[in-house]
Amino acid sequence: MNSSSFTKTLLFWFSIILFGVMLWKLVSATPGSRADEISYNEFMAKVDAGDVKDVTMYPSQNSYDVSGQHLRPAGRLFHVTLSKEMAPAVIEHLREKGVDVKIQEVHGTDWMILLLNGLPLVLLVGFCLFLIRQMQRSRFRATLVNSSSTRTGIGYDLHRLEYGRPLIVGGIELPFDKGPVGHSDGDVLAHALCDALLGAAGLGDIGTHFPDTDPKWKGANSLLFLEHAKKLLADKNFAIEHVDAVVITEKPKLGPHFPKMREALAKALGVSSDKIHLKAKTNEGVDAIGRGEAIAAHVVATLVSR
Ligand SMILES: [Zn+2]
Repeated sequence: MNSSSFTKTLLFWFSIILFGVMLWKLVSATPGSRADEISYNEFMAKVDAGDVKDVTMYPSQNSYDVSGQHLRPAGRLFHVTLSKEMAPAVIEHLREKGVDVKIQEVHGTDWMILLLNGLPLVLLVGFCLFLIRQMQRSRFRATLVNSSSTRTGIGYDLHRLEYGRPLIVGGIELPFDKGPVGHSDGDVLAHALCDALLGAAGLGDIGTHFPDTDPKWKGANSLLFLEHAKKLLADKNFAIEHVDAVVITEKPKLGPHFPKMREALAKALGVSSDKIHLKAKTNEGVDAIGRGEAIAAHVVATLVSR
């Protein structure tokens, strides 16, 4: 979450809380608070004068809240508080006077009031939880940023093609009348991939690790280079995140062989084949590649440090 959406969320919750508080204040203004506050004596005088038709009594711990309506002026509310001790005698007196007495343990609207009063509290708790979660997330992100990094490397290779040599691309031998000229098996894709991986890890290039002057590598299967590169990456705590490659050749068509190539490369690198993406291009008949005299590959590799 970026800072602007964080601010928006903050404002949203603030508005919700404000709205909740306003609603609470509105509902808290119950009829009781708008009623005439009268004394016990005034109340009894009204009862004796027949000015009270019915009352509702709300018992609490030490007192009774009594609410009712004046007959004159009609509809006007009054409220009086009685001590708990006085209540039984008053109730009896009221009934003698024909006043309808209702006793309610809980105000009729109390559940709603309780709910709405609790709403700001619920919102406040929700807001606090939201803030805590955001803080944890940003701390987690900071931990991630500190503990891992992403590195990218680029690799390029080109080999001349000559008649009568095996064409090996991505560890797979393809049926074709020409093949690359090279010290090893001349696998352009494996070589460019190796360079991209070594470059991303800051480990030099393929020539540093497998010099073409070394007879050990004469005719070598280039997948061995990748297996070695895998070990070098592991030593530096790098993992391969993704590989994207383009192989450029006029002929043959490479696409149908990609699944096998991906499998072979992935096996050599010890990753799943979905981390390896391959594309094929021709050079539209232009220059050495276009004339079928060479094959080339470009590879970009992404590593993450563990
Ligand atoms: Zn090469």
